[in-house]
Amino acid sequence: MTATRVLVLNSGSSSVRYQLLEMADGSRQAAGIVERIGERQSRLVHSSPASGGETPNASGGETPALASGGERRERVEEFADHDAALRAVARELEADGCGLEDPRLAAIGHRVVHGGQTFTRPTLVDDAVLAEIERLIPLAPLHNPANLTGITTARSLNPGLPQVAVFDTTFHTTMPEHAARYAIDTATADEHLVRRYGFHGTSHAYVSRRTAEMLGKDPSEVNVIVLHLGNGASASAVRAGRCVDTSMGLTPLEGLVMGTRSGDVDPAVVLHLVRVAGMSVDGVDQLLNKRSGLVGLCGDNDMREIRRRVDEGEEEARLAFDIYVHRLKKYIGAYCAVLGRVDAVAFTAGVGENSAPVRRAALQGLEGLGLSVDDARNEAEPEGPAPAGARIVSPDGAPVAVAVVPTDEELEIARQTYELVSEAGSAAHR
Ligand code: ADP
Repeated sequence: MTATRVLVLNSGSSSVRYQLLEMADGSRQAAGIVERIGERQSRLVHSSPASGGETPNASGGETPALASGGERRERVEEFADHDAALRAVARELEADGCGLEDPRLAAIGHRVVHGGQTFTRPTLVDDAVLAEIERLIPLAPLHNPANLTGITTARSLNPGLPQVAVFDTTFHTTMPEHAARYAIDTATADEHLVRRYGFHGTSHAYVSRRTAEMLGKDPSEVNVIVLHLGNGASASAVRAGRCVDTSMGLTPLEGLVMGTRSGDVDPAVVLHLVRVAGMSVDGVDQLLNKRSGLVGLCGDNDMREIRRRVDEGEEEARLAFDIYVHRLKKYIGAYCAVLGRVDAVAFTAGVGENSAPVRRAALQGLEGLGLSVDDARNEAEPEGPAPAGARIVSPDGAPVAVAVVPTDEELEIARQTYELVSEAGSAAHR
């Protein structure tokens, strides 16, 4: 029996999201989440299609979307640690007929947030790889430890199964030095690994490739600006399939205005808040990451709610929307300059896929750069279930295509994982 399935795991500090994908047709065989790991009342929600059909993408919401006509099981009990949580996930998968020992399972693909400069491609996990991910913990102190726990636990459950680490930073490792470096003292920067890494890489990779497909071109033939606008938000400039600039930096704080993060500020704002306002470093960290962005400006970070308030004439919400869009427009302009020639601008993630007003406002006035939306197309509801909602919303014959492309980070992680283990397998047979 050929192994054509990949289990994708995204391990957070107190949660694990997972999806089981069949690579022969990209279909989702199961999806779920375990939340509140380590608490008395952990919760596991598992959904699977009734008969091997499509289970909706479970990446976005709090809990996996219920497969239409499928099955949804929920358990509330104590999962003391990741080991207990993953064992419970394995039992759910087993109950659906594809446990971790199943010969159809080719590998587990793990999302790992930070791969530093080391991991320029998805990587088969061994002890040296684990040690390197651990060495990079200072760059992602909240995420890399949780990602590591997920890998080591999964490995212990089936030591024979290939485990592949897919990094959020990898797609951006092609950035040239002049885009990746900050203009600060080189010796200090090098000693402390201070440079621009970028994040959301699997999404930027997936969306830029899908956009090329939509244009009927090979990724090597097109230049794309990808705008990933979720709760976290980032932009990237992709030339011929390779990232040449991105808006997030050393951490995901840099760049666009986000749900709760400020994005770009004068770095001296931090100094001012510490020296003049007497805030602690942790206090500033909290402020810029959790109490800034849209939520800091108007108290809401959900774009639907903000638009409702704008439509009711609320000034505070209007200003928050305008600041969000102004920053976005500046990055679009900057990346037009970086790329020289732009074939497409692609909007993705919660806001990018769903908010017609953001797309319209971000491109308003950029007709001189060949950028505009067709209002009827931009506002039309997508047809069919995600990810079928990929569509072009620019006018016919526009110099630059504007696309809405639902992202699918799990499918991209699974694809990269499967490609790697297939290559490794065929190399072993040679
Ligand atoms: P993340 O994965 O970063 O948590 P998502 O990509 O799921 O985020 O995006 C979540 C955000 O998308 C929400 O906070 C909300 O602002 C926005 N969003 C979701 N649906 C809509 C919609 N229909 N219209 C406008 N914004 C939406």
